[in-house]
Amino acid sequence: MIVFDLTCDSGHRFEAWFGSSEDYAGQRARGLVGCPQCGSGVVEKAPMAPAVPRKGNRQPAVAALPAKQPMARGPLPPEVAEALGKLAEAQSKALADSRWVGDAFAEQTRAMHYGERDPETIHGQASLEEAQALFEEGIPVAPLPFPVAPPDELN
Ligand SMILES: [Zn+2]
Repeated sequence: MIVFDLTCDSGHRFEAWFGSSEDYAGQRARGLVGCPQCGSGVVEKAPMAPAVPRKGNRQPAVAALPAKQPMARGPLPPEVAEALGKLAEAQSKALADSRWVGDAFAEQTRAMHYGERDPETIHGQASLEEAQALFEEGIPVAPLPFPVAPPDELN
């Protein structure tokens, strides 16, 4: 994953995570990248920031772990609803053999990466800080496009 500094047309500055530069370009082209402060979809990459983060005036925003869920007023066109349904189905198939580890995701992923335990497919949740740390250590993790309900919350 990579993180971009973005600004909206009202001058709000925020960070967002993407799988790749192409991912960013694609999401931006489809209006899926929004300012967390005002919701504007008109965003640009911000000028390069100094390496030392300034305190207090930047709002972290994570595409992978949104604080706000993007919404559309329905009904969606049938082909869009069908495509989204297929994507959601593909994700749940991909996770069929994967074990939910909840908040232990970062810890367990790291243990496998460093050979401290046998590798297996897992999914769970990570905070922005944890995701960033994994990324910086070169550990391959990816955000899931759809929220996943923990098994004990499925009922
Ligand atoms: Zn804004």
